[in-house]
Amino acid sequence: MLRDEIITCDKNYFMNVFKGRFPLVVDHGEGVKVYDKNGKVYCDFLSGIGVNALGYSCPELVEALREQVEKIIHCSNLYYIEPQAELEKWLVNHSVADRVFFSNSGAEANEGAIKLARKYFEVRNENKYEIITAQNSFHGRTLMTLAATGQEKYHRFFQPLPQGFKYVPFNDLEAVYRSVGPNTAAIMVEPIQGEGGVYPATREYLEGLRKLCDEENILLIFDEIQCGIGKTGTLFAYEYYGVEPDIFTLAKALGGGVPIGAFLAREEVANAFKPGDHGSTFGGNPLATRAAITTLKVIKERGLLNKVKKTGQYFKNLLEELKEEIDIVNEVRGVGLMLAIELNRNKARDIVNYMFEKGFLLNAVKDNIIRFLPPLIIEKTDIKNMVGELKTVLEKNNL
Ligand SMILES: *Cc1c(COP(=O)(O)O)cnc(C)c1O
Repeated sequence: MLRDEIITCDKNYFMNVFKGRFPLVVDHGEGVKVYDKNGKVYCDFLSGIGVNALGYSCPELVEALREQVEKIIHCSNLYYIEPQAELEKWLVNHSVADRVFFSNSGAEANEGAIKLARKYFEVRNENKYEIITAQNSFHGRTLMTLAATGQEKYHRFFQPLPQGFKYVPFNDLEAVYRSVGPNTAAIMVEPIQGEGGVYPATREYLEGLRKLCDEENILLIFDEIQCGIGKTGTLFAYEYYGVEPDIFTLAKALGGGVPIGAFLAREEVANAFKPGDHGSTFGGNPLATRAAITTLKVIKERGLLNKVKKTGQYFKNLLEELKEEIDIVNEVRGVGLMLAIELNRNKARDIVNYMFEKGFLLNAVKDNIIRFLPPLIIEKTDIKNMVGELKTVLEKNNL
């Protein structure tokens, strides 16, 4: 198909749900670069919304997937497979969790986490079902995870939503204390809010939640779907904060681009699930688990976590300099390679469009917030080039 035909097909046949797709027909990728079908090259600072941790065409990942495709792509969870076994063992050995379940997406991972939290109290004959989540959070697009998401605009047209959620302002411990009641089963937060505009939790906040959960017999759930898998310079965001959750969820970068999600829990919690309580046709299938175990091993073997600490700090410093130099940049936020700048006017989309013309993929997560989620393999030179161009765009255009 020609480039234009592809775009026309989308207009004619695809459900019209995505806000302003860019005129980019992705053909292939290499390293941190994405190639349009017309040959134009883009340096990717979004990585498929925090998915392509190893960039594109990572040789180890390509080779592992090629081998796996030739062996077997899918079989049922009625049988055992080696990549799933390897992945579950690896995740448990490298985290606070004792058990894991695999899903196909982030939303499904959160669904599972919420089900597990409810079952945990059900088997203890305690009437605890309510989940406290944060305002401005994002937990997914299924009805249950929409209900968990503390943003009114996502709820509006889909009533009635599943019940049992309460929303509190983020980073406000007092508000959580006031909202906890006898029916509170869990507090669920993103250690760094992603879709909300890249707002990191404070350490005191997460420590306070941990303490409260311990005192009140409540489960602490971290949604690490966006901020997990290396973004913070630690494998999991909870390690960056030094606060351990009872349940946590992963997806996005876990499979290095192949769809896979997971929820993980300590033994005592995971034990609440009995045969028949949960399941999935595709979840944890050979292709997805092979992709995930390979991605995790490459992150480890190449020392990418240390690299992220360095490139992340370098990136943040450059953005701070930009803030000093350019009036309309109000604030720099984020940790590691999950960063954002906030502008004092609603021009984020215009700037992202200018940068697109210049060959950089960025994201306007809100009208006044530009988000950066590059692959973990991004180099300082790529960052320097992008921020240099961003500065030119900010200076030149009458915003
Ligand atoms: C992306 C995201 C989700 C939803 O993941 P999907 O794979 O799109 O279902 C949930 N929580 C957070 C924090 C996310 O960033």
